[in-house]
Amino acid sequence: MAEFNRGNLHAQVLGNKEKMAVQIATHAGAMSGGQTALTVTIQKFEDGVMVELGQQAWLGVAASLGRTAISALRNPFSLLGRLDDLAQDIENIQLGERVWTVINRAVAALGASHALSERLARVACEFCGTGNPVGEGSCIACGAPLGEYHPTTCSNCGFVVYTKETSCPNCHKAL
Ligand SMILES: [Zn+2]
Ligand SMILES: [Zn+2]
Repeated sequence: MAEFNRGNLHAQVLGNKEKMAVQIATHAGAMSGGQTALTVTIQKFEDGVMVELGQQAWLGVAASLGRTAISALRNPFSLLGRLDDLAQDIENIQLGERVWTVINRAVAALGASHALSERLARVACEFCGTGNPVGEGSCIACGAPLGEYHPTTCSNCGFVVYTKETSCPNCHKAL
């Protein structure tokens, strides 16, 4: 919010801690953009957080209290007929890239990362290379035992590490 609520832009948050949308738009009366907003939807999802970027109408302040905001969150990317304005702004100031930079910085400060979620997503079988769900006892393709290949955690920082790793990729402590 601090990053985007200044200069040529303004931002607002709709929703709650389970699912929220951050809307970023240019000020009314700007040369382009106007009521079209870049909307970042952030939602709790299994063991992590899902983030989506889309384009949406700027919802008035009143919307944050009412049903309009709720229905907008359910269907966040109701595309508009006037997206050219926003597209122009995105190209001019690389708004999408700035959004991802801010998100990456925020999650890193909280000790979370995209890498962590990837590490928890699957275990590659050492014998045939098939990706298996974490927790699977034996390879779903070749039946090889997977027990010792499942990730464990760093005793220092709690990051997910593989048994073959000699140092933690997060805190760099020897394992
Ligand atoms: Zn296998
Ligand atoms: Zn560590």
